[in-house]
Amino acid sequence: MSHVLGLMMQEERQSQLVAEAERFAEEKIGPRAREFDEAEVLADDLIQEMATRGYLTANLPREYGGLGLDPVHYGLFQQAIGKADCATRTLITVHSALCGESLLRWGNEEQKELWLPRMAKGETLAAFALSEPNVGTDAKSVETRYRKVGDTYVLNGNKKWISFGDKADLFVVIAGNDQGQKGQISAFLVQRDFPGVTTKPLKGMLAGRATHIAMIEFNNVEVPAANLIGKEGGGFTYVVSTALDHGRYSIAWAGVSIAQEAVEQMVSYARERKQFGKRLVEFQLIKGLIADATTETHAARALCLKAGEMRMNKAQDAVIETTMAKYFASKVAMKVATDCVQVHGGNGCFSDYPAERLFREAKMLEIIEGTSQIQQEIISGFALRKYNKACKR
Ligand SMILES: Cc1cc2nc3c(=O)[nH]c(=O)nc-3n(C[C@H](O)[C@H](O)[C@H](O)COP(=O)(O)OP(=O)(O)OC[C@H]3O[C@@H](n4cnc5c(N)ncnc54)[C@H](O)[C@@H]3O)c2cc1C
Repeated sequence: MSHVLGLMMQEERQSQLVAEAERFAEEKIGPRAREFDEAEVLADDLIQEMATRGYLTANLPREYGGLGLDPVHYGLFQQAIGKADCATRTLITVHSALCGESLLRWGNEEQKELWLPRMAKGETLAAFALSEPNVGTDAKSVETRYRKVGDTYVLNGNKKWISFGDKADLFVVIAGNDQGQKGQISAFLVQRDFPGVTTKPLKGMLAGRATHIAMIEFNNVEVPAANLIGKEGGGFTYVVSTALDHGRYSIAWAGVSIAQEAVEQMVSYARERKQFGKRLVEFQLIKGLIADATTETHAARALCLKAGEMRMNKAQDAVIETTMAKYFASKVAMKVATDCVQVHGGNGCFSDYPAERLFREAKMLEIIEGTSQIQQEIISGFALRKYNKACKR
């Protein structure tokens, strides 16, 4: 078979997988989104069904049980899942984009062979534990500590806001060396059943209510040396950077998915609802909101697709393009979801309508995987370097 034919078949297979995921999301996930949000639980039967289809690790290679989707198709896949339900998309983001990609890139062969197939089958769910009560944006200052004792690392500390922290069996934990060696941040695979690990669910969240967010405490937890990911001291530069880059790509598409769903809800409501004897769509000011929301959503998707293509081609600026996609798409999601609530009037403030949940979930995207402010710092740093041309007068 020629190389070109092989590529065409691969492209067709991937598009087919995305189309199947779209149908699955519409039929099996979307109708349950409200139930998950209200119960604050993501149903096990859905997780298992997604595992059977390979969805839990759609981005990972087929040799480890994944679907082997390339970045563009993985983005479109995440768009489909996220459009149906943000919590379900979050599971895939933390499990496969943050933890799976970190393991794939920095784990050794034994770690990959042990964990990735289990993660694909849903036998193991993974969560990424970086943030802490006193440490968020300034993630290099993690206070969780490890000490090497013989063949083990002993961990002590607390993690906060960990999505699926109350459900996962395996945590990728970021901790600093307790001998005070500056910059010695390392990443460990910590199993929930290791003695000294306890989790506490965090209730009362604005968004991500069905994502089993938890605090995790590590109290003299003995982690075998074999569970160190990559090199000691490489936890931030390598593991966290990889995880956040993949996480941001996933969140960028999450922004598009919320914005797209909000546009559709806005349009269908405006076509039905009547005031002053006319449908809302007949008012120019409402049409203006719909036009802006549609344009912004298309622009966000175009930026995500561009970032996806650059990732596929391993382009030099793929990471910064991904950062811009995350920053822009999360802003668009918030703006479009706000306008969606506006078009719904009072009904937009009520959980009977998806607009209310979309609005809450959109806000979260501007905070997770690096807040909008820190993305602005990164993007402005890039612009100041790249576009520093002589001033024309
Ligand atoms: C729903 C949800 C799910 C999450 N899931 C996970 C998870 O799975 N794993 C995990 O490890 N973490 C998770 N987090 C934590 C998340 O990553 C942090 O909330 C985020 O990094 C921000 O940190 P912070 O909340 O401590 O805010 P802070 O860092 O305290 O920031 C507060 C404000 O100050 C601004 N700010 C901070 N530094 C600067 C600066 N240098 N310049 C300008 N402005 C600045 C921020 O932009 C923000 O507006 C989750 C959070 C939420 C809400």
